[in-house]
Amino acid sequence: MTELTVSADIVASVHYTGTLPENGEVFDSSEGREPLSFLVGHKQMIPGFEEEIMGSKVGEKKEFTLTSERAYGDRDDEAVMEIPRAQFAQLEAEASLEVGMQLVAQMPHGPSPFTITVLTDDAVTADFNHALAGKSLTFAVEIIELREATDDEKSHGHAHGPDGHHHH
Ligand code: ZN
Repeated sequence: MTELTVSADIVASVHYTGTLPENGEVFDSSEGREPLSFLVGHKQMIPGFEEEIMGSKVGEKKEFTLTSERAYGDRDDEAVMEIPRAQFAQLEAEASLEVGMQLVAQMPHGPSPFTITVLTDDAVTADFNHALAGKSLTFAVEIIELREATDDEKSHGHAHGPDGHHHH
């Protein structure tokens, strides 16, 4: 039996910690949780993350820094919009709005998360860019487990849990 490596149609389980290279701040980590499992080669992950661990074996550790083009892309100024504050009246009846708050808008193409960046009496400025857009990201990754994907996983384009089919 040949040893599996990270490659297309493999389900990889990894532990990872992501930090911002400019200040070392941890923005995400699997520490203290189950490893993250994903189907390689099906755009489940940001592009650079997969590219950097391709060919790795179980037990290997990698550390790398991705520029924004290989991570969450550049910021798009068009993705920032002003929404009349009146549209938030129903929400504001239950909770107060704050700058930095993350909300989800129901858009024609599906739910879209945004961050409130400016708040005035009349308007809410909503930034639909990913919070990590435009940033370089450093990842430390350890390969925990590799296995062949099932036919179901390959046709769905994502990894299933250890107990068979489950969707997030
Ligand atoms: Zn599925």
